Amino acid sequence: MKKYDKVLKQRRQKRDSSERIVDFNPIYHNFCDQEAKEQASRCLQCPVDVFKDIMINPSFCRIGCPLNNKIPTWLNKTYDGDIRGAFELSNEMSPFPEILGRVCPKKGLCESSCVVEKCEHRGISIGEIEIYLNEKAFDEGNIPDYGKDKNRKHKVAIVGSGPASISCATFLLQAGIGVEIFEKEDRCGGLLTYGIPNFKLPKNTIERRMSWMEKAGLKINKDVEIGKDISIGALEENFDCIFLGIGAPEGRSALMENEYANGVYHVMEILTTAQKRVFNQDFESSILKNKDIIVIGGGDSAMDVLRTSIREKAKSVTCVYRRNKESIPCSKTEMTNALEEGVKFVFNKAPKRVLVDEHMNVTGIEVAQTQVIVNEDSGRSTLKINDDMLLHVKADIIILALGFNNKMFDFYNELDLKLGKYNDILVNEKQETSHKNIYAGGDVVRGADLVVTAALDGRTAAFAIKEKLGM
Ligand SMILES: Cc1cc2nc3c(=O)[nH]c(=O)nc-3n(C[C@H](O)[C@H](O)[C@H](O)COP(=O)(O)OP(=O)(O)OC[C@H]3O[C@@H](n4cnc5c(N)ncnc54)[C@H](O)[C@@H]3O)c2cc1C
Ligand code: SF4
Repeated sequence: MKKYDKVLKQRRQKRDSSERIVDFNPIYHNFCDQEAKEQASRCLQCPVDVFKDIMINPSFCRIGCPLNNKIPTWLNKTYDGDIRGAFELSNEMSPFPEILGRVCPKKGLCESSCVVEKCEHRGISIGEIEIYLNEKAFDEGNIPDYGKDKNRKHKVAIVGSGPASISCATFLLQAGIGVEIFEKEDRCGGLLTYGIPNFKLPKNTIERRMSWMEKAGLKINKDVEIGKDISIGALEENFDCIFLGIGAPEGRSALMENEYANGVYHVMEILTTAQKRVFNQDFESSILKNKDIIVIGGGDSAMDVLRTSIREKAKSVTCVYRRNKESIPCSKTEMTNALEEGVKFVFNKAPKRVLVDEHMNVTGIEVAQTQVIVNEDSGRSTLKINDDMLLHVKADIIILALGFNNKMFDFYNELDLKLGKYNDILVNEKQETSHKNIYAGGDVVRGADLVVTAALDGRTAAFAIKEKLGM
């Protein structure tokens, strides 16, 4: 160990862009045994638990990870070749480490808090090793512990099956509590399944976890919407507690003239149907094929839909972003991947109006030139939109990728839930809502956020429910 200055940091290798744009398969190759061992050997093995109580603002990988994953210990075990030990430890705090290793924006979390990252050497490839050790353990026949043989006398209903719900179900099952999931879609996973594309997160990772949980006693009801097919009151009558993990599904508007024209879509409409086509192996019927596509927005979901459009054989794919290149909020890795795959970027252009023909079909978009102005004293930047400098860009399809808002679900009134000003459900530190025995977590509480924070909320709620039920 401690070879951070002798072994160079390495990331997973990527498939060549010409090869990867013709399918939806993952673009990265996982580490092999030697790469994982070498990269794990770079860890300093900081004694996080010793220092965290005596340092002000300590910065270690474990503290940067919202789940407080036992990272140095499982890195050490990976280095020693004790894969089963590393696997058990990495599953102790995390409900699905092999998924989080793939989707976490690690540069803002564990990896940026790594002590080695703060000196001139680059930090440890934590996510990559997290994927490697779990996949290796699965290949060797290891299965996560879901309390298979426990006697489940208490029952909890979970509404939704996204990462917050899967996490809550994981820790409840482990505690010996019966769990029943109600999901309105035809598959489990929430945005893990129908948001994040397969080339970033292969869907068998979710299906695999759900099937192990089912074998341990989890009941799953798909195509069932709470508030429509079953009332929330019926759940209250039949279960000890309820967890709400129903996400933040409302796509934001661009407030443009003609925004409801034929050919304007929200990012989730495109991503969900694209993933359904991947499940059905139907790669020809896409509405994006041979079309000029413009995506408005610069976040990670914009990158996902731009790269999906390339794979759906669009004629051209362009990202229009209001600010300059330096301000784009998506991860730099995702932008590089998009550029490699043929996406064009147009910066400093604000959308003003959808251009349409006489049948209200999209023909293009009118954008205004913008300028980022930085105040030299405060360092704050503002955006100046020059309405006299307008430009028309041709497009057949416009996709809005401008973020998400919480939705006011009808059953909230029935429960008289306390809500925040953005219709977010208010909870305490145990994820308890204002309504007795009802817990909530993930995007429905935080607004659009991250998989790992949803996982944290689900875990916190499960521990609180366990305590309440005296388990
Ligand atoms: C395109 C896209 C890409 C993203 N990429 C990343 C990424 O790379 N990394 C990252 O960390 N985060 C990413 N995110 C954010 C992340 O996916 C979310 O923060 C996370 O999924 C939230 O989890 P959740 O469980 O709260 O909700 P969701 O994942 O939204 O799941 C909610 C579930 O509840 C179900 N549901 C809703 N209402 C009902 C009802 N009444 N009855 C039954 N079921 C119901 C929904 O169908 C859904 O399955 C991305 C988001 C998007 C949109
Ligand atoms: S869960 Fe995310 S933040 Fe935590 S160790 Fe894994 S990749 Fe890092």
